[in-house]
Amino acid sequence: MQIYADNAATTKMSEAAVEAMTDCMRNQWGNPSSLYTIGQKAKEKLEEAREEIAAIINASPREIIFTSGGSESDNQALLTAAINGRKQGKTHIVSSAFEHHAILHTLKKLEKNGFEVTLLPVHENGIVRLDELDAAIRDDTCLVTIMTANNEIGTIQPIAEIGKLCKNRGVIFHTDAVQAVGHLPIDVKAQNIDMLSASAHKFHGPKGVGFLYARKGIILQNLIEGGAQERGKRAGTENLPGILAMAAALKEATANMERDNAHKTAIRDRIIEGLSQIPHSALNGDAVQRLSGNVNFSFEGIEGEGILLLLDQKGISASSGSACTSGALDPSHVLLSIGRVHDVAHGSLRLSIGEDITEEEAEYIIASVKEVVEHLRSFSPVWRDLTEGKKEFILK
Ligand SMILES: *Cc1c(COP(=O)(O)O)cnc(C)c1O
Repeated sequence: MQIYADNAATTKMSEAAVEAMTDCMRNQWGNPSSLYTIGQKAKEKLEEAREEIAAIINASPREIIFTSGGSESDNQALLTAAINGRKQGKTHIVSSAFEHHAILHTLKKLEKNGFEVTLLPVHENGIVRLDELDAAIRDDTCLVTIMTANNEIGTIQPIAEIGKLCKNRGVIFHTDAVQAVGHLPIDVKAQNIDMLSASAHKFHGPKGVGFLYARKGIILQNLIEGGAQERGKRAGTENLPGILAMAAALKEATANMERDNAHKTAIRDRIIEGLSQIPHSALNGDAVQRLSGNVNFSFEGIEGEGILLLLDQKGISASSGSACTSGALDPSHVLLSIGRVHDVAHGSLRLSIGEDITEEEAEYIIASVKEVVEHLRSFSPVWRDLTEGKKEFILK
């Protein structure tokens, strides 16, 4: 059996997206900035895609800027809020400890440039607390940036409440919604979102394309200077094949969202129930406020890399709780942020299931993970120490 269970890392392009992309490459290859018919036809398609995407998140087309993906959108949003904030003497930013590196590394850069950053804790359930956010906001806070759903443990933040709080306190609110767009309903007006980042390849669109929503009135700062594309806020000839494919993928994902979420939630909960039977294991993140496709477990006494390699041999593609950053194995900052200690965080597994997963595949995943964990523990020195009482178990 071949099961792709790493949809949080990337998704397979949908047929509708491939169709839109190839049609564009064959028939709409003009430059949208050109004045002759071929160019203007491309321009029409570009604006149609912008309208479709805007409507899905209840924005107006002028509020959508096309980018190269989630990372660029995050960078542009943070830079915008920082530069605009500094002009008003505001140099404090509030975020959370378990954001994506596109946010955290940009915040580090801003810190080096005189900004002060407060990272809110996300607690054991992987969710920020509104009273702590309220307390963290200061007179000189220019931005609150909190992700809609976490890419590792799938926990969903109370975005509408955060948006309302920020609005009441007069602070710009940005959300990295890369894991949420196409998977959860988004309404930027009802949720009081000022800026939002999205990436096509997380909802069955192509890689290298995404968008940034910025509410009317927010003056975007450029990351890329050049031509007047995207109303002067993002230079470079538009990636029209990518943009049209993104719009097609998002339309499809939105149309099927309810059905897909109901199906994935049932399968997710079955997998969680099955893996919970493994002794000395624990689910990471809230069991209910989480993406329908996300299962994340820690298993004591073993290493995530081993789990992945053995699951791969069984045809299952998954991801672990250690990020191989710069060749060294660091436990995931997300798992550390919810209080997992290093050893436990290292033995973690993320399964992010897709829409077409079957019950049979879920049972195969459960049986395979059980077998793999048992096998790895059978020759793990750490596990031996734990069972012989030389070390104490952390997970029940
Ligand atoms: C994937 C991801 C990103 C980065 O998006 P790219 O399009 O790959 O640059 C940012 N934030 C989150 C939460 C993600 O899951």
